[in-house]
Amino acid sequence: MSPPAPRILLHACCGPCAAYPLRELLERSPGREILLWNYNPNIQPTAEWRRRRDALAFLFHSLPRLGLDAGAVTLDLSAPYDGAAFWRGPAGADGPSERCRLCYRLRLRAAAREAAARAYPLFSTTLLFSRQQKHEIIREEALRAQEEFGVKFHYEDFRRGRREGIRLAQELDLYRQNYCGCVLAETDGA
Ligand code: SF4
Repeated sequence: MSPPAPRILLHACCGPCAAYPLRELLERSPGREILLWNYNPNIQPTAEWRRRRDALAFLFHSLPRLGLDAGAVTLDLSAPYDGAAFWRGPAGADGPSERCRLCYRLRLRAAAREAAARAYPLFSTTLLFSRQQKHEIIREEALRAQEEFGVKFHYEDFRRGRREGIRLAQELDLYRQNYCGCVLAETDGA
């Protein structure tokens, strides 16, 4: 029997976006260790951040209902809400495109740093699931974080599983938000 795939830190932006990537990673590589890690200082207000965090926890506890091996997954919700980091950085960007880039950078640098600190050889993000996100910029920023922290970025275009991801979220009746995260996007349609 071949050894399990290298363990991976999966940055999770919310429950609905995490369902499909998580299932894919688990089904393709049984026994692989996955650290589901929540760090999203861009989400406003704080109550919404809590709602999404709780939905992620609900997904984690529901993995057996989806027939998945929950024993291979660790959920880490220990990162506190860090809204000041968003206001110090991305919020001051020149326009929505640059703001989103800095927002991805903030989160993906943190994910790569965390993976390096815990000796995970790989990191990825559930942001790659959403068709509403700026996919290519996410990829660029993840590769940048890869260079900076020496942890390999696992790229996959999880958008292919859109229908299945929505179905999984509906099956579990997961909380699904209708906006990206920051209040600034409301005003300029980012
Ligand atoms: S629209 Fe989304 S990705 Fe862009 S800055 Fe706001 S929260 Fe971040």
